[in-house]
Amino acid sequence: MGSGGGAAAAAVAVPRKEKQRSAAGHWPQVEDDGVAPASSTKRHARRAWCCGGVNFVLAAFVMVVPPMVILLDARASSPAVWISSVNVLRRGDGSILRWPAVDARDKLLGSLLADGSEEGSCHSRYQSAMYRRNAGREPSAHLVSKLRRHEELQRRCGPGTAAYSDAVESLRSGRSGGGGGIGSPECRYLVSISYRGLGNRILAAASAFLYALLTDRVLLVDPSNEMDELFCEPFPGTTWLLPPGFPLTNYTSFGVSTAESYGNMLKNKVITTGDDGDIPPARLPPFAYVHLDHTATVEDKFFFCDEDQRVIRNIPWLVMRTDNYIVPGLFLVTGFQQELDSLFPETDAVFHHLGRYLFHPTNHVWGLVTRYYDAYLATAQQRVGIQVRVFGRQPESPELLEQITACTQKANLLPEVIAAGEPLVAPASARRKSTAVLVTSLKSWYYERMKSMYWEHAAAGAGEAVSVHQPSHEEFQQFGAGSHDAKAWAEMYLLSLTDALVTSGWSTFGYVAQGLGGLTPWVMHKPANDSASAAAADRPSPCRRDVSMEPCFHAPPFYDCRLKRGADTGKIVPHVRHCQDVQWGLKLVRTSW
Ligand code: GDP
Repeated sequence: MGSGGGAAAAAVAVPRKEKQRSAAGHWPQVEDDGVAPASSTKRHARRAWCCGGVNFVLAAFVMVVPPMVILLDARASSPAVWISSVNVLRRGDGSILRWPAVDARDKLLGSLLADGSEEGSCHSRYQSAMYRRNAGREPSAHLVSKLRRHEELQRRCGPGTAAYSDAVESLRSGRSGGGGGIGSPECRYLVSISYRGLGNRILAAASAFLYALLTDRVLLVDPSNEMDELFCEPFPGTTWLLPPGFPLTNYTSFGVSTAESYGNMLKNKVITTGDDGDIPPARLPPFAYVHLDHTATVEDKFFFCDEDQRVIRNIPWLVMRTDNYIVPGLFLVTGFQQELDSLFPETDAVFHHLGRYLFHPTNHVWGLVTRYYDAYLATAQQRVGIQVRVFGRQPESPELLEQITACTQKANLLPEVIAAGEPLVAPASARRKSTAVLVTSLKSWYYERMKSMYWEHAAAGAGEAVSVHQPSHEEFQQFGAGSHDAKAWAEMYLLSLTDALVTSGWSTFGYVAQGLGGLTPWVMHKPANDSASAAAADRPSPCRRDVSMEPCFHAPPFYDCRLKRGADTGKIVPHVRHCQDVQWGLKLVRTSW
């Protein structure tokens, strides 16, 4: 029913491009290769980074003029109108002009990204900075140089190299490869299994990458579940996808009872740890499976202890399964702490940097992002993202709708509306602010209600025009469906381009958006028993501002490795705290400013 992509026809000027929206689908019409169509990104990118003297003068002028309506471009007799105080100019003919606010360094996110990749193969890698009003945090110099060295490692040891063939051969023949045999001891590998929802997969890959970075392992990502179609290659000149022919043919079915899991090898005394020095590599197995999903046992979670890390570091191949953001657990390992402090002096921006480094939408997904952004969000003075995670068979919930409304109003993100009987049209002179609301959800009901609310009622104060948009409503979570995942990825990314974010607690979908955007969200808490009727009564407040933009680690260890006993791991180091949405979860916060 609901036209998912429709802009609310409230008192906001409807962008011209909306008329191009596909009648069949919710996304604006796709052109040719799935890249942003003419008049959007590609053309403007060239303009912005190239020459365009006239545009540069225009930009310079606009930058010194305070936000107000201005008339320009008489030559083309199409007046250009100021619509944003940041980096976008809407011309009279409706096209959008971006000016060269993005220099080469910004384009590479403060050198977080290496230069030198072919731009056409991954537009998002070079264009994302143009779409972000929030430039994000600066990466540390140490992180930048570590990333360059790691890229070099990935090229030297990755698929297609002699070192990789040797390591695969050692694994096939069951040799540890570390004892001077065929394998190359300086090339060790971590294979990350991709499973569950897209948010889980992204957090898992980011976690695996940080572990690989800390331990100088080559990261290889299991290409299943669309991981090969959604993201560009992050490491220039090589692939991060595990190639076909991997000797552990059943690795995607490894689970808690796999005999080669590190936890089971400890339990069955195939491996022992202790303070009596390192185990000689030749006595180590050729690979270990690291089981860190929500079913992980106490022994599996010894992975987060120093003495176990001393053993694990010499095992040439690791295969890791996690559906979690295990990074806060890595901050508990004493041996990693100094390096982590240097890499991330701002401890609340770890996923922010890892995510922006690793996850670049492929051109098809980037087309979904940019077309939607240009059509519905670019011109708004403020953009508010609302992620409504509908779990399981949860019905359309008036209580949840009320929670969303109360939250956005309490946080001053959206205006209250005036009850019936009040004048619906504000005097033109009073219209000062336009706000675009981006709703993402599997259902359209919440969006429909919000859209109607802001259309049928005037906003209090009459100075704000609110439009409401939702790119898709897929109804149910699907697995192994490319277009479903592409929409999910595009929507996470679009949420990350907003100025303020409201998320649903417990959801990795929201975690990814907030981290990429550098946004500390307002979090709506999930009702204790999932029952819609209990929702309002159970919650003292509709939402709370989170303590940081970092994702929450839902299944952390509860063990103090030094004291060798159970402990509250939210109290061991100052920047690892419990999450607000998942109370037993762990989250990185910032302790120094
Ligand atoms: P989580 O389950 O909330 O932690 O998030 P995940 O991303 O791991 O899994 C939920 C999956 O459901 C997503 O990956 C999508 O496939 C689908 N999904 C949930 N919410 C949305 C939404 O708002 N938009 C879209 N397009 N898909 C969604």
